[in-house]
Amino acid sequence: ERIYRVNRWGAGYFTIGDNGNLHITPDLANPDIRIDFNSVIEEIKQEGIQFPVVVRFHDILRSQVACLNKAFRENIEEAEYQGKYMGVYPVKVNQMREVVEEIVDAGEPFNYGLEAGSKAELITALAYNTNEDSLTILNGYKDEEFMRLALLGRKLGRKIIVVVEKFSELISLVKISKELDIEPLIGLRSKMTVKGRGKWESSGGDRAKFGLTIAEIINAAGYLRDNGLLHCLKLLHFHIGSQLTDIRSVKEAVSEGARIYAELYRMGVPLEYVDVGGGLGIDYDGSQSTNDSSRNYNMQEYVADVVYGIKEVCDLENVPHPNLVSESGRAITAHHSCVVTQIVGEIKSSSGNLDTSYKEDEHVFVTNMRDLADSLPEADNIQEIFNDASQYKEQGIDAFKLRVLGLEELAKIETLYWQIMQQVQMKVSTQEFVPEEMQELDYNLSSQYLCNFSVFQSAADTWAIDQVLPVVPLTRMNERPTVNCSLVDITCDSDGKIDQFVSDNGLADVIPMHKLNPGEDYFIGLFLTGAYQDVMGDMHNLFGRLNEVHIFSYDDDPEDFYIEEFVRGSSVEDVLSIMQYNPTAMAQDVKRMIDKRVASGDIKPREGVKWTDFYEACLAGYTYLKPVKK
Ligand code: PLP
Repeated sequence: ERIYRVNRWGAGYFTIGDNGNLHITPDLANPDIRIDFNSVIEEIKQEGIQFPVVVRFHDILRSQVACLNKAFRENIEEAEYQGKYMGVYPVKVNQMREVVEEIVDAGEPFNYGLEAGSKAELITALAYNTNEDSLTILNGYKDEEFMRLALLGRKLGRKIIVVVEKFSELISLVKISKELDIEPLIGLRSKMTVKGRGKWESSGGDRAKFGLTIAEIINAAGYLRDNGLLHCLKLLHFHIGSQLTDIRSVKEAVSEGARIYAELYRMGVPLEYVDVGGGLGIDYDGSQSTNDSSRNYNMQEYVADVVYGIKEVCDLENVPHPNLVSESGRAITAHHSCVVTQIVGEIKSSSGNLDTSYKEDEHVFVTNMRDLADSLPEADNIQEIFNDASQYKEQGIDAFKLRVLGLEELAKIETLYWQIMQQVQMKVSTQEFVPEEMQELDYNLSSQYLCNFSVFQSAADTWAIDQVLPVVPLTRMNERPTVNCSLVDITCDSDGKIDQFVSDNGLADVIPMHKLNPGEDYFIGLFLTGAYQDVMGDMHNLFGRLNEVHIFSYDDDPEDFYIEEFVRGSSVEDVLSIMQYNPTAMAQDVKRMIDKRVASGDIKPREGVKWTDFYEACLAGYTYLKPVKK
C-alpha cells in the first residue's frame, strides 16, 4: 500500500487484498462486495479475449452518479436550501453508448440529465435523455441546425436549455424560434474573472474562449426583453476549468456566479437555475494536494461549498435560491474503467552478460575501467569513482569513433561501466545526501518494462499534458517489488512511455515492479482512465481501439461477477478502412502475388494457400501483440 497508494487514489473502489491481488468494491453503498481482479483476468482469458483489454465496472459508474446526487440532496436538506439539484452529465467526457446509457439509467431516480457540446452530442442527448423531468444543457458553439435540433427537443417536451456562448448565437436562436414558433429555454454563459488553478485554468479569466462579458449579459437580457422572450431566460452558467485542484477557486467562482445571478434576478431576469459547470477534480496521484493531478478537497466538500456558497449570497441579497446544476464528468466516469495489459519484455541499459576478463594486448582504456571496478569494494570516495567511470566511458566512445578501439573492447567498457554504476547506486542510496549528478542514476539504471498497449490510444493525457494516472501490478502486491522500472509501449515512438508514477513521497520517474518470472504472465492495470482517456486516443502506428469487457457484480454473492458484454476492439481491417484503404482489395492483391509465385514454382501450392489464409487472418485480427502462449 505504501508503494502504490491504492487506498488514496482508489477512493474506496480499489484496495489491496490479503492475497496481494487488487480488489474492487464497485458500489460504495455495498461495501461487502469485493471482486478479486485476478478472477476477472482469469474470466477474460477463459472467454478467449485477447489483451490489452479495457475493463469497465458499470457498478462504479452507477455508484458515482448516486454519490454525487445524494451529496447534493443531503446538503440541500441540511442547509434548508430552497432549490433542487438538477445535475447533468457532459457527454464529451466519455461518449461511449454503454457509458451514457448506464449514467442515464442510474440517474433516472434523481432526474439527472445530459450536457451536450456539439451537434452529434445533441443528437445523442435527444435520443437518450428521454426523462422529461431532467435537463439537457447545450454548451459549445452552435449553428442554425443546432438551434433547430434544440427546438425539436422543446417540441418533444424536453427541458432543453440552449446556453449562449456568444452574442450572435442569441440573435440566431431568437430568429429561428420565431420562425418555428417554438419558445426556447435559454441560458447565458458568463465569462468569469476567477481563474481556476490547474491545467485547465485558461477556461476562466478575460481571455477565456467561451462566455459573455457582464456587459454582454446585460445586453442579452435587454435583447430578449425587446423581443418579448425575457421569460425564456432561465439559466446562468459558468465553468472555470476541469480538474480544479484548489477548493479556493471553486468557492470564489461560486460566490462570483451567485452575485451575478442575484443582480440579474433583481434586474427582473427570472432566472431559475445556476449551473456551476464541471471542475470537480480527481485525486489521480493520491496526494490530496493542489498538484495538477490531484485536488485538496473531496466530493462532499465540493458539494457543500456549492450549496452553502450560493445560499449565503442569495440570503444576503434577498433573492430566491435557484435550482442548482453541475456538469461533473471526470468525477462521474474516471474510476469506472481501466486498461489491463501484460508486460511482454524488459529493456535494460545495463544488460548483456559479456565476459570482461583481461585479454592480452587490450587497450589501456579497458584496463583502466576494470581496475576502477576492482577498486570499488574498498573505495571510500564514491563521487571520484562516478566521475572516473563517466570519463573512461566517454573516452572509450571517442576512441571507438576514431577507430582506436574495436567493437568488442567498447562493449567491455560499457559493461564494466554499468556494473560500476550499479554498485555506486547501491552505496549512494544508503547516504542521506545524494549529489546532484548521481540523482539520475536510479532512473538510468532502471529497467523499462515493455507493455502491450499504446499510450496514444489508451492514455493520451499522460503524453499530451503530463497527466498522472495510477499504474499497479494486479497481483503479487504482498511481495516486495525489486525492479525499478518505467513503462514503455509498443508504438515505434520514443514518446510512447509512462515515466511519472504515484509514489510514497510524491511523484517518481520509476515505479517498483516485480521481477518477471519466466513462463508466468505479469498483468498491470492503468487506472482512472474512464474520463477523457477512454475516448480521446488516436491510432498512432495503427493501434486501434481495445477489446472491452463490461463487468457487473451480483447483489447476492459478494465475490462473484459476470462479463455482461464483450465489445470487440478494432481489427486491422477496421483501422485500415478508417485510413481509406480497401482491405478486401489488399487481400486479393496479395493472393494474386502469392498465386504468381505458386505458378512460377517458387512457392508450393499448399504453402501458398497457407500464406494467403495467414494474411487474411492477420487482417481480421487484433492490432496489438499476440503474446507467446504460456
Ligand atoms: N462543462 C463544460 C462546459 C466543460 O467545458 C467541461 C470540461 O471541461 C465539463 C463540463 C466537464 O468538466 P469535468 O470533467 O471537470 O467535470
